[in-house]
Formats: sequence, structure tokens, C-alpha cells
Amino acid sequence: MGEIILQAYAKINLGLDVLRKREDGYHEVKMIMQRISLADTLVLRKCPGGGILLQGDTETDVSGVPMDASNLVYRAIQMLKEEFQLEEGVEAVLTKRIPVAAGMAGGSADAAAALKGMNQLFSLGLSEQELRDRGVKLGADIPYCIMGGTALSEGIGERLTPLPPLPSCHILIAKPPVSVSTAFVYGNLRVDELLEHPDIDGMTEAIRQGSLQGVIDRMGNVLETVTIPAYPEIAVIKSIMLEYGAERSLMSGSGPTVFGIFPDEAKAMQAEQAIRKAGYAEQTYLVQPLL
Ligand code: ATP
Repeated sequence: MGEIILQAYAKINLGLDVLRKREDGYHEVKMIMQRISLADTLVLRKCPGGGILLQGDTETDVSGVPMDASNLVYRAIQMLKEEFQLEEGVEAVLTKRIPVAAGMAGGSADAAAALKGMNQLFSLGLSEQELRDRGVKLGADIPYCIMGGTALSEGIGERLTPLPPLPSCHILIAKPPVSVSTAFVYGNLRVDELLEHPDIDGMTEAIRQGSLQGVIDRMGNVLETVTIPAYPEIAVIKSIMLEYGAERSLMSGSGPTVFGIFPDEAKAMQAEQAIRKAGYAEQTYLVQPLL
């Protein structure tokens, strides 16, 4: 087998709740994850020498992403190379399109693609569940990125319930030019002091019933209570989206990316232009939910 080309899709959180902080420091979450049509590309091939060679594609800007042994792609390849004592080398070329440190699980998506790609390239015969069990050791969102689609994610992200696809809609993504550390956001979250929790059970039910309106009515993210005070431009982007006709807008993950759900593409494009013109975000994308 020569070369494997994989798309590593980003996610947004239609709903994100934190239930408690566990004794081991992890937070117990309850989230609705949605795969979207924005992806990095990862190419994997065997190479002589036995090592791991990871490079960024010259087409995109990979500054801000370490291309060394700390990259999640490198760590995923290394994990399977060690476990299966694979002697051949692996060359990986990563084209980054998903905004980095943005709340879109870019690194986790890349790691998920690397695990799947290694499974194929070396015919390891691992099932999806076996890949997910390995993925969670590298990052809590990786099991979901392996599964994709629409899902309820619980525990620290490893307990996944697949849901029916979200009804089709137009989603505008806007990432302001700040990087947010997930550790900073969770570190400053006061779970006991949260005044509101999104109704994740109700959202799960709405998805099962195919009701986009039911989902929109319940969108909420408790991490906004930490990230928005630190980066008020997030609130401004949310309100521009609403002003231009979004049914609802929300921060994804730990931020700072904002997404809005629009009834039609024309309104989403107008909102995109307004956000860009006002200088709040250069990284904007019009996307659809994916299976
Ligand atoms: P999440 O939604 O899971 O919180 P995120 O979008 O906030 O993820 P990432 O883009 O995954 O954050 O990256 C967070 C950090 O992880 C980066 O600042 C970078 O140093 C490191 N990293 C390691 N591997 C990768 C990768 N393949 N792509 C992007 N970042 C990576």
C-alpha cells in the first residue's frame, strides 16, 4: 500500500455542559458534538529509516503548530509504532486548515486521522472501538473525532452515544485572532457557581426527533462564562451574527471560535462580510454539518 490520504474534520459543540470536577482533575462534561465540513488533510506513507518524519504542507500556515514529537499526529503514530513494534518509518504531511487553539478540536481530529491511517497503512486490524480506546490516552476529544457525525459525549469525552444526523443548515464559523488555552478555561471555571446549565437531554431528544428548532432553542456553552470576560470580542461576534439573521450563535468548545446557525446561505454570507469588515475575524468559514 503506497499512500493514505485522510481528511481530519473539525467539530463544533452545539451544547456544552460541565457537571463537576473530578478528584483526578478532569472535568465531567456533557456535550453535543457536531462534525463540520472544515478539515485538515493528512497524508501518510511508509518510508525507509524507521523514524517518524512529520512536515507541514507548504500551502498552509502551520506556525503555532509544533511539528516535532509533541504534535498529536506524531504521538499517535509513535503510540501504534511502539505497541505493534513496527520497524518501517512513517512520513506524514499535514495541511492545517482548522484554526489552532480555537475550540474546534483540530489537534484531536489530526490525531484521530493518524490512528485510522496507521491502522490502514499497516493493516493492524483494530476495530473502531479499539482505536477509540487508544485515542483517549492522547486526548479526551479524540474518541469522538474517530467516530464523527453527531454525538452525545459524556464522562471526560470517552462515553459516546451516536445520534441521528443534524437536519441540514448553514453554519458560519468565525475565529477571532486570539488563541485560547483549553487548560486556562477549565482552570478558571467555577462549576459550583454556574447559574445556568444547557438542557443537553432536551437537545439530545430534539436531535432524535429531527427538530433543528429544538436544537437551536437549547444551544448553550458554560465555558462562555470564562472565555467571554477574557475576550469580549467573542460577544461582539455573537451579536453581529444575530443582527444579520442567525437563529442563534454560540462559542464552540473553550473558544474563541464562534458559530452561528443561519436559515439561508445569503444571510450567513452577509454576516461573514460584516464580521470581516469590522475586523473581528479573518478566519471565517461557511460550512455544513457532516455525518
Ligand atoms: P479542543 O477543541 O480539543 O480544545 P483546540 O481547538 O482548542 O482543541 P488545538 O487546535 O487542537 O486546540 O490545539 C491546541 C494545542 O495543541 C496547540 O496550541 C498546539 O500547540 C498543540 N498541537 C499538537 N498537535 C497539534 C495539531 N496536530 N494541530 C494543532 N495543534 C496541535
